[in-house]
Amino acid sequence: MAQTTARFGTVFSEYTANARFEDGQWTPWEVTPLAPLQLHPGSHVLHYSSAIFEGFKVYKQNDGNLCVFRIDAHIARMQQSARLLFLPEPPADMLRDMTMALARKCEQDVPEYPGSLYIRPNLIGTDVDVGAAALPSSGAQLVITACPVGDYFSGGMRPLKVLIEETMRTAAHLGVVKAGANYASGLYTVLQAKKTHGADQVLFCPDDDVQETGAANFMLFRDDAVLTKNLDETFLHGVTRDSLLQLATDKGMRVEQRKISVSEMLDWIKTGEAALSGTAAVLAGVGTIIHQDQEHTVNGGEIGPVTRDLRESLMQVQAGALPDTHGWITAI
Ligand SMILES: *Cc1c(COP(=O)(O)O)cnc(C)c1O
Repeated sequence: MAQTTARFGTVFSEYTANARFEDGQWTPWEVTPLAPLQLHPGSHVLHYSSAIFEGFKVYKQNDGNLCVFRIDAHIARMQQSARLLFLPEPPADMLRDMTMALARKCEQDVPEYPGSLYIRPNLIGTDVDVGAAALPSSGAQLVITACPVGDYFSGGMRPLKVLIEETMRTAAHLGVVKAGANYASGLYTVLQAKKTHGADQVLFCPDDDVQETGAANFMLFRDDAVLTKNLDETFLHGVTRDSLLQLATDKGMRVEQRKISVSEMLDWIKTGEAALSGTAAVLAGVGTIIHQDQEHTVNGGEIGPVTRDLRESLMQVQAGALPDTHGWITAI
């Protein structure tokens, strides 16, 4: 059993699932021992960032059954990312079979819930051609790694400090692509926010449009209502976001998805809650929002009751303590 106290994403299972796209077709996929990749230094990905990824969870339910959460949604998003970055699109059944085979092979590594085996598929352009700056890579390598991870909030949930920035996280047409390049694009702003304001995250709000943070979607809550940005091309459409909105609807809450201005958001947090959603943390409460050097406390600087309740409900569905009424869970 791999240890799960290490920082998220630093411990890997001993196997990967991999396939290559060569001469216009996928090679038969295999599960093989984890090993460094062999890449020519002129590979497309190393120069022109033809790299996309996914992240989702395999975990053990309370009764010991191994399952995966919303695998179809993650596969569909990976296929979309591949298309939008002009990489070969892996077939859905291949991605699914590779994931299942890898999860079975790494079964011993799956910790108790809320720990999980975090599945990280990665697709990169492998053409050896430094002249291909304005061309896609026709060849590609797909590797799925698995990381046993513990409870994301093992030290307890700490309310986050978020800095409002008017810059863009990434180019608008790459907003929905889970591409490594988007993280590179946001890094300067995120590091500056840490350095100058001690912020945990940046909330990107270009053109007075509250979008998302560097790696998580943003939501506002009140007793009976959820407000979040409507799906457009500018931000990553989180599977956790979608799941939480569905659960909120099931609870009879009013779910509104539309454009939110910074002033409306600041107004909302005078009485409401704010939180960040994503696979790793599920839902993380925001305690402070910094706007133009002014600190605004959210819900008295504490994680609010709606944030806790929605987070708990989603985790209970995952763990099998609440029924899976939306077909989100697939047995391995
Ligand atoms: C992965 C990601 C999210 C969260 O997506 P989930 O499917 O909920 O894990 C949100 N924003 C960005 C930029 C992401 O890369």
